Amino acid sequence: MPVRVRFAPSPTGFLHVGGVRTALYNWVVARQAGGAFVLRIEDTDEARNREEWVTGIDEAMRWVGLDWDERHRQSERADRHAAAAERLAAAGRTYWCDCAREEVDARARERGGPPGYDGHCRDLGKGPGGDAALRFRTPDEGTTTVVDVVRGEPAFPNAGIEDFVVVRSNGKVMFVLANVVDDIEMGITHVIRAEEHLPTTPKYLLLWEALGGGAPPVFAHLPVIVNEKRQKLSKRRDPVALELYRDEGYLPEVMLNYLALIGWSPPDGRERFTLAEMVAEFRLEDVGKSPGFFDVAKLRAFNGDAIRALPVEEFTARCQPWLTGPLAPWPPEAYDEQVFAAMAPLVQERVAVLSEVPAMVDFLLLSDVRVDEDDWARAAKPEAVAPLLDRVLEAWAEVPWEHVADEREPLKDSLFAIGDELGLNRKRAQAPVRAAVTGRSVGPPLFESLVVLGRERTLDRLRAARARL
Ligand code: GLU
Repeated sequence: MPVRVRFAPSPTGFLHVGGVRTALYNWVVARQAGGAFVLRIEDTDEARNREEWVTGIDEAMRWVGLDWDERHRQSERADRHAAAAERLAAAGRTYWCDCAREEVDARARERGGPPGYDGHCRDLGKGPGGDAALRFRTPDEGTTTVVDVVRGEPAFPNAGIEDFVVVRSNGKVMFVLANVVDDIEMGITHVIRAEEHLPTTPKYLLLWEALGGGAPPVFAHLPVIVNEKRQKLSKRRDPVALELYRDEGYLPEVMLNYLALIGWSPPDGRERFTLAEMVAEFRLEDVGKSPGFFDVAKLRAFNGDAIRALPVEEFTARCQPWLTGPLAPWPPEAYDEQVFAAMAPLVQERVAVLSEVPAMVDFLLLSDVRVDEDDWARAAKPEAVAPLLDRVLEAWAEVPWEHVADEREPLKDSLFAIGDELGLNRKRAQAPVRAAVTGRSVGPPLFESLVVLGRERTLDRLRAARARL
């Protein structure tokens, strides 16, 4: 039987990093088996879905490069779901029930048993209409066992599974039924999804059997992803949207590598691998059970390493959205390819995410530098800063404007010589010059930057700073 897997996100928000991991594992399983990867947008919850989130899922998937072989929208299959409900009814596997929630709860209290529906209408022969919902009759005895590559074989006593609603009184088919119908009709062989779906999997299996689905799929319920407080990542509390990471300048291949590691690592335990290596080495059986920690600091470190490993032209190409594109903090005409090319190798060494790039070069691209007040105040504190700037202005009007590492470094040598005479160590001598010229206390190497900036602009900014003292 050909392997067919699906990634089935509900478009109720931007694609969650946990969802990306689920998509990735599914995609890898499909690719290594030469099978099919189906993208199924589970958009039947009209109240919570939005069209922009459907587009967002497609874009996010394209950005990380997880291509799909088929794409379906669950909402377009409503008549298939309704037909399945009718088949269940015709086979006597369901019944109509018009008990109100309060009645169900009151009876449960009287029983003193667990809350839930007690099968009250099972044999009352009620028909549809009014408030009647269609319930699935679950077996009273026996167990339903989920055969799960990750979880083992959790068994659920059928007596604990209430007769659950499959069609609401308004005619809407419940999600679990739609989900099973789609998996059967799409020939899904492996259901690889978040652990949160494990508790409803017995219902899934009962429906699968009742619909004559044949051999059930192989399950793999993936461990939850937690934050540093060991709380399940939540879209309300944690930064979980893939697009946040994209806009911050994480590389898509790093996102995939890092997300893969939350729950799986190659047999040799190494942490850095490509998607192709993952296709070669991944085994669903090797996915761990315990919660995985989404460690943003580690992700950042991975990303910085990956940025530094890029050929510089590639680095420049990847920076374009922040330099000339929609994420650039300046108008398109401010960008100067040659200026950036001169700085690129230095910048590449110093950023962990690409969104940090503009702040590294803005002082070169913008005619006016905006000086950070706090940075300037700190750098300008020593009294010797005024004479330092005066003498630097004088010296740098004449000095050869070049920086040759390890050999002749006229800019650097003259600054430090002046600093020495005024009792300012190298750090303190450099600080006011850096703040005056770049606007900040951190940035790319100073003397290389000054060479790119040029004598006139450097001296103008130093003069402006001197005047501000
Ligand atoms: N649509 C469900 C979700 O987004 C996934 C259900 C499944 O994978 O079976 O949580």
